[in-house]
Amino acid sequence: MTDIINKLYEKSEITESDLKKLISNDDFNDYLIKKAVEVRKKHFGNKVYIRALIEISNICKNDCYYCGIRKSNSVCDRYRLTKEEILECAQKGYELGFRTFVMQGGEDGFFTDSYMADVVSEIKKRYPDCAVTLSLGEKSFESYKMLFDAGADRYLLRHETADEAHYGKLHPESMSFKKRMSCINSLKEIGYQTGIGFMVGSPFQTLDNIVKDLLFIKSINPEMVGIGPFIPHKDTPFCGYSAGSADLTVKLISIIRLLLPKALIPSTTALGSISEGGRERGILAGANVIMPNLSPGNVRSKYSLYNNKLATGLEAAEHLIELKEKIKSIGYEIVTDRGDYNG
Ligand code: SAM
Repeated sequence: MTDIINKLYEKSEITESDLKKLISNDDFNDYLIKKAVEVRKKHFGNKVYIRALIEISNICKNDCYYCGIRKSNSVCDRYRLTKEEILECAQKGYELGFRTFVMQGGEDGFFTDSYMADVVSEIKKRYPDCAVTLSLGEKSFESYKMLFDAGADRYLLRHETADEAHYGKLHPESMSFKKRMSCINSLKEIGYQTGIGFMVGSPFQTLDNIVKDLLFIKSINPEMVGIGPFIPHKDTPFCGYSAGSADLTVKLISIIRLLLPKALIPSTTALGSISEGGRERGILAGANVIMPNLSPGNVRSKYSLYNNKLATGLEAAEHLIELKEKIKSIGYEIVTDRGDYNG
């Protein structure tokens, strides 16, 4: 097994059968993590980048079976931030030391391209030293281009699964794998720093699916990769499925670090939500980004993607000082920096 890890370490290359062996055998996890951390330290030292996450709306036209803010969830308490509220969040975030703002939300038709372009350009005008990341779902090439031209630097759109049949089991017929792929291609073509990713342990996911995800990620060569465990939400069709494993998520972070040495890889809220110290484990396995929550306090619990989602304590942007100390205690350092991809 060490030969497979060494090959991955030296060349960032691996075959499908090697990946299968590596994922199914846990005896060499310590060695895998050690090599992933070596690569991470070579490119980023002990720096951890932070992004302020502003959840701008939980209104969504989509009906993803796994997601707590899906259209058909009639007990979801819906909200939408105003432009002023978003700008207030950005101001607070800037004062706290954030230099990247991530605006994420459901696919909410209220936020037209021109509305969002206006928000993006206003943030860039007020904070020219900051990066803006969007995570607002699927849009046309022209819409993505308009937002890019307004100043958006990065876009997060998880592919969710690289297997079309699996995609069909996670989403209603109105959503298509081909459309998701075409959106990802558009983002890359336009020039966004693009983030893709998937949920670990989503219903019906097989080992083959995970291997396909990893090889897909490698082939796309994205600037950012976000993975986190699937966690059921009580008011969705997938309420009865088990959550994904934190151990496997951490292991996959190490593999992704070796596949894409320079990628920006967050240690996600879902990983922190599912296991005590999960977020720190992600950093110790090769992740280099944390995205604390900067949404207004009164809406945080409403952006409920899954059960028991963390939005307080060290997950909250206001507690940055404590988060810095925590990260320092595990040997890493949170920096005030845009933290762009440096390929
Ligand atoms: N609407 C945008 C989109 O589709 O990319 C952004 C918001 S969406 C809620 C952000 C991500 O949350 C999804 O890509 C999905 O992977 C993750 N997510 C949704 N439900 C989840 C669950 N039950 N467990 C873990 N992650 C989940």
